[in-house]
Amino acid sequence: MSGFDGTLGYLLVSSDKAVLLTDFRYLEQAEKQAPHMEVFPLRKKLSEAVAYLCQREGWDKVGFEEEHLTYYIYKILSDKIGATLIPLRQQVEKLRAVKEPLEIELIKEAARLTDEAFEEIRPLVRPGIVEKDVAMELQYILHKKGGEGPSFNYIVASGPRSALPHGVASAKELQEGELVTIDFGVYYRGYVSDMTRTFFLGRAEKEHRELWEVLRKAQLKALDFIKEGVTGAEVDALAREVIDDAGYGDKFGHGLGHGVGLEPHETPTLSQKGKDKLLSGMVVTVEPGVYIPEWGGIRIEDMVLVRKENAEVLTHSPRDLI
Ligand code: ZN
Ligand code: ZN
Repeated sequence: MSGFDGTLGYLLVSSDKAVLLTDFRYLEQAEKQAPHMEVFPLRKKLSEAVAYLCQREGWDKVGFEEEHLTYYIYKILSDKIGATLIPLRQQVEKLRAVKEPLEIELIKEAARLTDEAFEEIRPLVRPGIVEKDVAMELQYILHKKGGEGPSFNYIVASGPRSALPHGVASAKELQEGELVTIDFGVYYRGYVSDMTRTFFLGRAEKEHRELWEVLRKAQLKALDFIKEGVTGAEVDALAREVIDDAGYGDKFGHGLGHGVGLEPHETPTLSQKGKDKLLSGMVVTVEPGVYIPEWGGIRIEDMVLVRKENAEVLTHSPRDLI
């Protein structure tokens, strides 16, 4: 919200004013990164600073993000600031859901770096390499390209582990005849990407190919449908129907996708819970996946920009089982 990226900060926003509170270590940085805000030094207690500001500005009600304020800080503030604290849910996230043109540029750049890194990692994903080494190579490649750090703990899940929807890279060695799911992304100037591809090491069998086809069909159906005005639940239902019809309904246990921006998972959600309409400028993932214990799993994940009439796919790496 402020542009400030230090590790300690509180932001108070009213209809005509924004005050960013931070401590001694970050004052100069905060003034540079948030020139349009008042930077208020946190010298002593947070409660004293907030009490002072509430009195100075005449604020008698203060809303707060209930998913982000700890109970400890809530207690301190509610006892001492002399204003009523009102819990709010996802007010800030909702503001963030529709991206501005500059934000879209940064997300596209993060997606482009992800595609480039995939191109480089492809030849290295072969029998004998360890999952963790694939993850480290990817991080190194992205770092060299100007990325600012991994989007999350990379998923590199091979063989039976590919049936784990979130199988973080382990010490397992990749082997011939295995499925390998790689889910990764990168931060670029504060914004993040998220993409999944599934490999097959060796010649894929008919059942692998058939499942891949089902997932790609489900993904394309969702991509064709996405535009401003449809809900996340509607998109999810369309893709889910394809997977249900193929007999894998109970093996697709997560939502179809999620918003991406400053965080790898943010609002909106493309799932049964997604009752709100998608708006032009939102960036979401579309990631159908099927996971069969002992056998393995396949997921294809791409990032898309929601537009008035359609969706623009932002990640372009080859999707086939390789
Ligand atoms: Zn992902
Ligand atoms: Zn994702």
